[in-house]
Amino acid sequence: MRIILLAPPGAGKGTQAGRLSEKYRIPHVETGMIIRNAVRNETPAGIKAKEYVENGKLVPDEIVVELIRERIERDDCETGFILDGFPRTVPQAKAFDEMADDQDIKLDVVVFLDVANDVAKERLLDRGRDDDTPGAIEQRLEEYRNKTAPLIDFYREQELLVKVDGEQSIDAVTNSIEEAISHRLTEVAS
Ligand code: AMP
Repeated sequence: MRIILLAPPGAGKGTQAGRLSEKYRIPHVETGMIIRNAVRNETPAGIKAKEYVENGKLVPDEIVVELIRERIERDDCETGFILDGFPRTVPQAKAFDEMADDQDIKLDVVVFLDVANDVAKERLLDRGRDDDTPGAIEQRLEEYRNKTAPLIDFYREQELLVKVDGEQSIDAVTNSIEEAISHRLTEVAS
């Protein structure tokens, strides 16, 4: 099973991806964490990514694409994965399509967690991670609207998108996602 989780920052992607990873026994590929680790370890990619992360800006596509390529080429991703936080731009999505072609794998579903801007902002302010300063939060939401939101149509056109109300309780969101995925898989199979 190969899943992409698409949502604004603060929508609870990480929590939901962790649960899906357990349920479907597939690795949780957490892009933000991979990037933050690279920054902390001062790898060549991390050194380039640092100022973007700190300012709430998206890291340039070529850096992120390479980090994700390395991750999903590892053995544990052979039977599937859940991508949390990637792709976040149309060029990243296109690069992913090419990667999938090269590796002869297919995406099963893109889950779009729908959360209103104000709700996302409040959740981010409550969370208080290092990169959750008010300025960086505004910037991340703007990056989402400008660069990531177009992926909703991109995947709708590919008939891969399922939309879930992300403003419900955490458990209700998990249930809705699992229902949407199984509905989608039966649809494809029939
Ligand atoms: P996250 O933990 O998903 O909120 O990501 C934290 C930060 O990592 C973001 O604000 C970006 O600077 C960077 N980042 C994460 N995923 C991506 C991506 N797919 N493309 C570019 N930058 C990303």
